Amino acid sequence: MPVNRQLIVLLFCATLLSYCSSPVKPEKKHKIGLQPLEKYDTAQLRFIQQELQLFFKVPVVILKETPIPRSFLNTTKGERYSADSIIKWMAHTAPDSITKVVAITHKDLFTSKWENGHIKKPGSTYAVWGIFGLGFKPGRSCVVSDHRLRTHNSAQFHHRLRTVVIHELGHNQGLSHCATEKCIMSDANERIQTVDNSSNEYCTRCNNRLSG
Ligand SMILES: [Zn+2]
Ligand SMILES: [Zn+2]
Repeated sequence: MPVNRQLIVLLFCATLLSYCSSPVKPEKKHKIGLQPLEKYDTAQLRFIQQELQLFFKVPVVILKETPIPRSFLNTTKGERYSADSIIKWMAHTAPDSITKVVAITHKDLFTSKWENGHIKKPGSTYAVWGIFGLGFKPGRSCVVSDHRLRTHNSAQFHHRLRTVVIHELGHNQGLSHCATEKCIMSDANERIQTVDNSSNEYCTRCNNRLSG
């Protein structure tokens, strides 16, 4: 068999294998980068890396930790960092070899809640609204904080962390919030109970959207 044809057959098999074995259709040469912001717990990073590799069946690399620009900090409600600024910054600065980047931090995050072109009222509540994470829909970057996920129950904490990371990556892949009960794309809307009750998967409808 000529070399070229062998190569084509091999490539075809490799493509077929990756499509058949993955619940989520992978993008071409998909690679996820985990970007620790400031110092981040190494065991937790490894945990997220392993869970994402198992779930998306793509390589996940841990990038070198980087400080968060001070200009992203808001101190009106304690120390909270702008998640919107972080995901814009990540989208531009992540290495080209990375298709999706998950910034991960112990610091608290905020976004502003908008309604009809204005910050939702009362502004004192919604201008600096604390969140678990935020991701472009679709896009190449998201950010997750474990600041609001902490609990003494280690299994519960790991479930929360995994759920929020896979939820934000779902947004990056173009998924909206989902009304299916316990779908990982359910809108947590700051309710930790939604995260706690979440299943470990995208529902059938979300999976169909990804492969559609
Ligand atoms: Zn969401
Ligand atoms: Zn769903």
